Amino acid sequence: MKQLLILLLLSLTLFGAKVENFRWSNGESYLVFLERLNLPAKILYYDLEKDDQRLTEEMRTGVHYQILRDSNGTIEQILLPLNDELQIHIAQKKGSYSFEAIPIICSTKTEAFSLEITHSPNYDIIKQTGSKKLAQIFTANFRNSLNFKRDLRVGDKLVMIYDQKYRLGRPFSMPTLKVAMIEMRRKKHYIYLNNDERYYDEKGHEVEGFLLARPVRGARISSYFTKRRFHPVLKKWKAHLGIDYAARRGTPIVAAGSGKVIYAARLGSYGNLVKIRHADGYETRYAHMKSFRRGIRKGKRVKKGDTIGYVGTTGRSTGPHLHFELRKKGRAINPLRVVQVTTKKLKGKERKAFLKLKENYNQSIDLHIKNKTKFIKTSKEESCCYVFNG
Ligand SMILES: [Zn+2]
Repeated sequence: MKQLLILLLLSLTLFGAKVENFRWSNGESYLVFLERLNLPAKILYYDLEKDDQRLTEEMRTGVHYQILRDSNGTIEQILLPLNDELQIHIAQKKGSYSFEAIPIICSTKTEAFSLEITHSPNYDIIKQTGSKKLAQIFTANFRNSLNFKRDLRVGDKLVMIYDQKYRLGRPFSMPTLKVAMIEMRRKKHYIYLNNDERYYDEKGHEVEGFLLARPVRGARISSYFTKRRFHPVLKKWKAHLGIDYAARRGTPIVAAGSGKVIYAARLGSYGNLVKIRHADGYETRYAHMKSFRRGIRKGKRVKKGDTIGYVGTTGRSTGPHLHFELRKKGRAINPLRVVQVTTKKLKGKERKAFLKLKENYNQSIDLHIKNKTKFIKTSKEESCCYVFNG
């Protein structure tokens, strides 16, 4: 296993100790990891509660993790990120070890770039930034309202302003889009993140993002939408008409969009299930819940982001996860494809505040175009003090 590890960063020195950055190697299990580092498996695995043991199974290939050693080379701390928000923290004090799941500490920066189209938004964004995530966010947000293939010309411009989280000097987690603009045939199209945390177009009409309102914060997708997949255990082709989000039992599940609860009860292999009806014939389903949030029942109105229940493993489920479905007029569709459903129109005071925000953003966008702002790769030296020293 050792030769599979890629040592990425050696030089970061904090508090007289040394932080080493590694990537979780393919196929390594947590127990093998402990053995390799000569750490006590009894304390750091076998004596743990079931939920914590399960957490250790969440480590996935390629994730950056850190080991902090003192000047003698003795391990003092280890940080193993499980998702965007949670990490395992192993600490050693006077020879005894502790295990704890703790929130991830990170900083956020607002970044921007502009570019001229040479091929397509997707191609050009990846070419300039190297980030598939940024390209994905940009195209997903405009996919339903614009036709790039038909209307886009070489030399058309686009600008993105977004927040990027950093952990130990590295970009971390999904960026949050604040404004996107694309100019096609001399007409500018915008999407703005308003103060109410919702997205609006230039007319102040809401652009509802199912992708952006993930039903479980910070969870990783453990199974994608597919109309056909091979089940390795049952040796059968099966369909998976939703997205699975792996998360710890009891993690809050939020409504992906505003709407009305039309079902909240047990239903066969779905286990504890909530169905929410949204505008335009859309419906979302949340399955295998441990329990519903108090007050969540048929007829209840919920807003995007409201907690409706908690991750569990009821019904036909092999471990704690949320099975999330999006349907339009009864037919299952890929939640990651459908991003826009126009719902709310801003009026009165809200509209006034939005217009002000829009004006400020438009000025920034004009500046970025004028200055030809390019994407800047952040240097890793900027990281500091992210090591939990407690
Ligand atoms: Zn599923």
